[in-house]
Amino acid sequence: MTEQNSKILILESEPDILMRKHSIEDFPNESCGFMYGYETETERIITIARPVINSKEGDQKRRFEISPFDYMKAEAFALQKNLTLLGVYHSHPQHPAIASVHDLKSAMPFFSYVIYSVMNAKIDDVKSWQLKDNGEEFYEEEVRLTILNTVNKIQTT
Ligand SMILES: [Zn+2]
Repeated sequence: MTEQNSKILILESEPDILMRKHSIEDFPNESCGFMYGYETETERIITIARPVINSKEGDQKRRFEISPFDYMKAEAFALQKNLTLLGVYHSHPQHPAIASVHDLKSAMPFFSYVIYSVMNAKIDDVKSWQLKDNGEEFYEEEVRLTILNTVNKIQTT
């Protein structure tokens, strides 16, 4: 029985840096965007990240939303680049990188949900979440960063 649970999420430095910058720039609002890449038997490798507009009406400090049109554009971009649309990233301003109930409600199967925790306009942590097969809860994916030799905990200076 194959569980995709065992794959390690690898963030290549270029998309990782872009997502960090975006999350800091949009602070104290939530940033969001798509992640693209490819998979092997044991790994899911993110090679490109592309920001999208947080289309949430109202409080963007605690919520993000991506429009259906942006999802369509993301699918088209993946096809064009011969990459797989692997997930969505967003930031948690002044909150830990733990997926919220709201994140769970809007989550789709297969996608990795990478969350950057931004504390006082600095990246504090990154975690990734994926829906379990029952679709009712997340499990945490192992994240490997290529710009730093640490898993999860990040030096910001
Ligand atoms: Zn969230």
